[in-house]
Amino acid sequence: MGEISPAQLDGIPAYGLPKPASPARDIEGEVEGQWIDLMRILRGLKTVTTPDLDEPIIKKSTEQDIADVRHLSTPDIPRPISNVIQEAYSIFNHRSRTNHKGFFSFTPANVTPLTWLGDVLVSAFNAHCSGSLTAAGPCAVETELVKWFASRIHFPSTAGGLFVSGGSIANMMAMTAARDQKLEWQNYPKGVIYIARQAHYSHFKAARILGFHAQQIRTVDSDTFGRLNTNHLEQLIQADKQNGLIAFLIMATFGYTETGLIDPLATISEIAQREGLWLHVDGAYGASLSLSLTRSGLARQLSTADSVSWDAHKLLFQTYGCGMLLVRDKSHLVSSFHAQSSFMDHTSRVKEDEPELWDMGVELTRPSRAMSLWFALRVLGTERIGQLIDHGMDLVELIQLKLETMREWEVITPASLGIITFRYHPELRKRQEKTLEKLNEDISRILLDTNTAAVMTVKVNDVLALRICCTNVRLTEEDVLELVKSMDEVARRLNMCMN
Ligand SMILES: *Cc1c(COP(=O)(O)O)cnc(C)c1O
Repeated sequence: MGEISPAQLDGIPAYGLPKPASPARDIEGEVEGQWIDLMRILRGLKTVTTPDLDEPIIKKSTEQDIADVRHLSTPDIPRPISNVIQEAYSIFNHRSRTNHKGFFSFTPANVTPLTWLGDVLVSAFNAHCSGSLTAAGPCAVETELVKWFASRIHFPSTAGGLFVSGGSIANMMAMTAARDQKLEWQNYPKGVIYIARQAHYSHFKAARILGFHAQQIRTVDSDTFGRLNTNHLEQLIQADKQNGLIAFLIMATFGYTETGLIDPLATISEIAQREGLWLHVDGAYGASLSLSLTRSGLARQLSTADSVSWDAHKLLFQTYGCGMLLVRDKSHLVSSFHAQSSFMDHTSRVKEDEPELWDMGVELTRPSRAMSLWFALRVLGTERIGQLIDHGMDLVELIQLKLETMREWEVITPASLGIITFRYHPELRKRQEKTLEKLNEDISRILLDTNTAAVMTVKVNDVLALRICCTNVRLTEEDVLELVKSMDEVARRLNMCMN
């Protein structure tokens, strides 16, 4: 029996490559000499950001497609970069084109080459954005940018926060801070959280991760539009208090994912203050309204929150993984997220008014997400950012005006933050709910099957509606009027064929 090499033991076949004197130079050599090609690759990626109209808006992949992809998943022999780029194209082919002009579901990605150039900078510099020791520059920008966003929602000067991967994490961190400010540890089992029925599922998920039992969650009824019903909220809080429980957190929403609608924040914050609850406002989708040129007044209501989550990868043109948590008093984040350790001494490191980022969140090693956003914002300037945000909202208001002139269409929830829900409701089918559901589901399906548009259905208070989220800055007024026309044609044809 021959000797077994460690490589064989690990199940990695040995190819007999010579051992490089400098592995780094060996790896750089893969890229060096190919910069001309790489420029071509980058230019190619520009078209990836702006999909052709005939590309599949929502790619339907077969089992065989995915089997082929799996085949490319692991390293084996070395390959030239250009081949591997080709492989990447064939892998990423199996994705929804969320920045296609016909993509109106979820929140369309509004990514332009400007956005990912910011990512290229962030990756190339690869600053260790845990704190000022390793990334004084990017951390200073992050802190200032967060203060700037906080000032846009009229938070006081005590406010602060940090960049995180998105709204789900921001919501969970806010819930953690609320728990730590409002509950003594012995009372955790008595704490109660109020979440609206239509709230984003990350609220329920966060509560579970943080160890709150389902019985500690109150699902607050919706009003007729699907927003949080404040009467029911008050009743629930009173009942819980009478039962000796500790009502400590209201999770409100500024911009529901389904409808774009905004909770009645004035009333909710009045209840929160009177009853001593923490008010978190999930602005993952909607908080960017505060940067709008014409509608920012509405976002003033955010100023009454204790914490706000805000995704830059929704309305602020960022690639995925860029969100923020803002808190009214940044020391609350430090209370929840610092920890003592031999190599990071909280007490000696934290400056009174400028905590290190590693003491304000979950992550230690983190990319400078703020710098990616900074890049786009700095290039565009404040006014143009506002215009871009308004663009989609203007378009969806135009869609509403158009639908309102068409007798067979019914607006379910009005244009709000670039979202509208509506349905086809012809005279012939008055209140035949099952038929109407089928009709509207079919409209959605046919628009998708013909690659005309991804307009999905949602349930708004038990009504099945079509939903348009219209935030793509490439869309024009003609585009959206054309969309309404296509929907109407499809709807009429379906209605005629139905018996
Ligand atoms: C998108 C969204 C979230 C979740 O944010 P992620 O960035 O996807 O984690 C939470 N709440 C609302 C209202 C959202 O629109």
